Amino acid sequence: MHEMSLCEGIVQVLEDQAEAQRYTRVKQVWLEIGTLAGVEIEAMRFSFDVVTRGTLAEHAQLHIIETPGQGWCPPCAKTISISQRHDPCPDCGSYQIQVTGGDEMRIKELEVE
Ligand SMILES: [Zn+2]
Repeated sequence: MHEMSLCEGIVQVLEDQAEAQRYTRVKQVWLEIGTLAGVEIEAMRFSFDVVTRGTLAEHAQLHIIETPGQGWCPPCAKTISISQRHDPCPDCGSYQIQVTGGDEMRIKELEVE
């Protein structure tokens, strides 16, 4: 389950930021996760609870914002929305789609004290 290591990465960022921005506790975290990022939302929530135990983000509320997948279709020469990696273009059926969005994960906002 790679969500566990993703969450460890998040806690690492939170701890680094805590030093720079002088906060001691994280109350809420807003995470943006692309539909194509290969992240299981439920596994993410579970991992977050486990990984944050005993850290500055213990009991922090996790909000997950899912961002849609986007790709560029060369035959159509336009941006299309895709729900899965390797999906064909809904207009022309081409498989040459280049993913241009929705495959990232980032911390969007934090509430700290
Ligand atoms: Zn197309």
